[in-house]
Order: sequence, then C-alpha cells, then structure tokens
Amino acid sequence: MVEIRSVHKSFGSAEVLRGIDLEVAAGEVTVVLGPSGSGKSTLLRTINHLEKVDSGWISVDGALVGYRRSKEKLYELREREILKQRTGIGFVFQNFNLFPHLTVLENLVEAPIAAQRRPRKEAEATARRLLTRVGLAEKADAYPQQLSGGQQQRVAIARALALEPTLLLFDEPTSALDPELVGEVLDVIKDLAHQGTTMIVVTHEIGFAREVADTVVFMDGGRIVEQGPPAQVLDHPRHARTRAFLSKVL
Ligand code: ATP
Ligand code: MG
Repeated sequence: MVEIRSVHKSFGSAEVLRGIDLEVAAGEVTVVLGPSGSGKSTLLRTINHLEKVDSGWISVDGALVGYRRSKEKLYELREREILKQRTGIGFVFQNFNLFPHLTVLENLVEAPIAAQRRPRKEAEATARRLLTRVGLAEKADAYPQQLSGGQQQRVAIARALALEPTLLLFDEPTSALDPELVGEVLDVIKDLAHQGTTMIVVTHEIGFAREVADTVVFMDGGRIVEQGPPAQVLDHPRHARTRAFLSKVL
C-alpha cells in the first residue's frame, strides 16, 4: 500500500531524513515515535508531497508520489495532478486546521465539491454520515470556534474521510488537546483502525500504540532505529536509544 525507499531529505545543510525505508500494508496501522526533531513530521509530509524528497521514492497504492515514470525517467507531476493525488491521502494535523469562517458541514463538503466535483447533495449526505460516525451529527451548523478542541479534531478527521482517502496520515493529532479530550479523539482513530483504514500515526500516546498499531517505528536523527510489532518495540526494544526514549514517555 505504502512503500518508502531510501528517502533522503535535507533542509540546507541539515539532513533531516537519512535514508528511510518503510512499508505499510493495506489495512494496517503504523505508529511513528521519536524525539523532537527526529524527522517524523517531515516524513509524513513527504508522503503526500508537501515536501519533495531529495532522493529515493515513495509510492501509495501503486502510484509514485509526486512523479510519474516515463521511459525510465522521472517527471514531477503538475500542480493540478499533485493536488488530485493528495486528495487520496488524508492528513490530520496537530492544530485541526479547520476553515474558521465555514460551518462544520461546509468544512466537510468544500473539498469534495471543489476538488472532486461531487454534487452538493451527495457531498452533504456523506458529510452528515461522517459527522454521525465521529459523534458530532448535531454540530453540522456550528462554527469551529464554538467547538472544543476534541470536537474540532473529530471534525478534522471527518473532513479527511470525506475525500475517501486510501491512506490517512496523522501528525500528533492529540498533542494540542487538554488531557481529558484526548480519549474521544483516540477512540475515533481506533474505530477507523478496526474498520481497516490504512494509517500512519505520529503520536506519543504509547497506550494507543500498544492497542492499535500493527507496527511501531522508532525514529531518531532522521533514521528508523527500529521497527516491529508493539510488543517487541515497546516492551523489548533492541536499541539503547529506543529504551532511553521510552523510559521518558512511558
Ligand atoms: P517534533 O516531535 O518536534 O514535531 P519531528 O520529529 O516532527 O519533531 P520535524 O518537524 O520533521 O521533526 O523536523 C526535523 C528537523 O528538520 C528539525 O531539525 C527541523 O528544525 C527541521 N525542519 C523541518 N522543516 C523544516 C523546514 N521547512 N525548513 C528548515 N528546517 C526544517
Ligand atoms: Mg513533528
């Protein structure tokens, strides 16, 4: 489903991704852990071409991200093609990023109508179904600032789902929330996991990782230090660096 091969990325002289290899099978959940600055967000951003890789390649659902291959050469996709490709990859950020001037329902139908040319009626029906799924059916006409952080993040998840992505990326989806609101957002993500949504989740919620992840990846200094099932990486880490990190967050 997702294949990442020898990905390198630098900002100026700082090499932030130093050769990342990772595979995520369809229907699987990969949780990415690692200290601040280890390259987790940059890695997620390369997967939908918000950042271009310097070398290596990424494919999602059999399609190269950001490029097409023709006669053994790679050509970067045009902006329009990149935007189209991105609609298949949902991205949920730490800070919700809802459109503040649009109602919850309008937030959900905007991209399906504009980017996917869905009829408004159909888009609204899908949006209401998704709001029910995240427990917010009654908030369709509210504005983002009228909602709690946890509710806003659940709207952001519903908005990502409205484009029917084949892959969902989460970048610390609960780290901006008050502790008592974290659970309601994690429950929605767990629910998606149980329904077989393919996801890559950057989070420091170790309990969530233990319960939901098929694979836990530990990154440090732009490299994957170790990866494996949660029972292995979280309970029997092989590397001293992983052990040191876990001893701080557990
Ligand atoms: P955190 O846990 O704090 O979110 P992270 O693992 O997500 O950290 P990244 O955001 O990927 O780390 O950043 C990795 C490194 O790349 C950092 O040193 C950061 O300062 C640098 N970096 C990220 N984006 C840019 C950019 N657009 N320009 C320059 N440097 C950047
Ligand atoms: Mg980050």
